[in-house]
Amino acid sequence: MLSDLHLHSFNSDGEATYSELIQRAKALGLDAVSLTDHDTFGGVRDFLDECQKQNLKAISGIEISAFKDAEIHILGYNIDPEADNPVNRELGNLARARVKRIKMILDKLKKLNILISYDEILQYYKTRSVSRTHIANLMVLKGYVKTKAEAFELYLSPNRPAFVDFYYFAPQEAVDIINQSGGVPVLAHPFRINLDKTDLKDLVKRLADAGLKGIESYYPTHSNDTINFCKKLAEKYNLINTNGSDTHNIYDNLITNFETEQKTIEVLGLR
Ligand code: AMP
Ligand code: MN
Ligand code: MN
Ligand code: MN
Repeated sequence: MLSDLHLHSFNSDGEATYSELIQRAKALGLDAVSLTDHDTFGGVRDFLDECQKQNLKAISGIEISAFKDAEIHILGYNIDPEADNPVNRELGNLARARVKRIKMILDKLKKLNILISYDEILQYYKTRSVSRTHIANLMVLKGYVKTKAEAFELYLSPNRPAFVDFYYFAPQEAVDIINQSGGVPVLAHPFRINLDKTDLKDLVKRLADAGLKGIESYYPTHSNDTINFCKKLAEKYNLINTNGSDTHNIYDNLITNFETEQKTIEVLGLR
């Protein structure tokens, strides 16, 4: 089975609509997909319904932002996006924390004579999850930087002048509420976490103790060595290996040869 279990739409900081993602997935011959927008289930029902109409297998997904010494993202699969569950109960608070943080970043930019208002973000984007990506895009549109990458490199990344930490959840808490909501918690893109290999091993051990069920071992930027490093950790802690492109549009990062592992298919109910 070919799948892409990590997709973003305009509902968070992606550019694609649900139908664009679905059409592209079908054109690439994928059998299953998951929309994993940041800290929101806002688009999941529409996405699942559209996938069903188009005969594409899909599971509910979300990517929860957490922080402990570094930014850590936890994917949550198979959570009911409408039910009264611990994840849904926290999403309102998480969204408010997100808005507060974005406004702090905009204040820092203002002191650097980069003028972007919160209302502008809402005027330009239909997002339900405001993000540094939207700020970066507007910085390009308004001519403050040439590219989105430059906005992150010069201003928005850790240790740059407009950076603000975002630590509403510790990763263990994210893992915990996903489990309590009947979902499957997976560590997203382990090698985009700003930790060295020793600290990463330690993180996976602690998260496994807290109930982590998977690790995103197959990711566009992973070399074979990196994949093997992740798979060894998965074996040690009895985690599934998941695969995802983390695409934010329908062109970047798309990988068509992500063969989903049998155990992953079973645990996520992808049959
Ligand atoms: P936030 O959720 O507001 O912290 O924004 C994080 C998002 O910014 C990530 O999900 C990525 O989509 C994007 N991002 C982070 N770092 C970079 C970077 N260096 N270049 C481009 N996009 C980035
Ligand atoms: Mn993103
Ligand atoms: Mn992420
Ligand atoms: Mn992502």
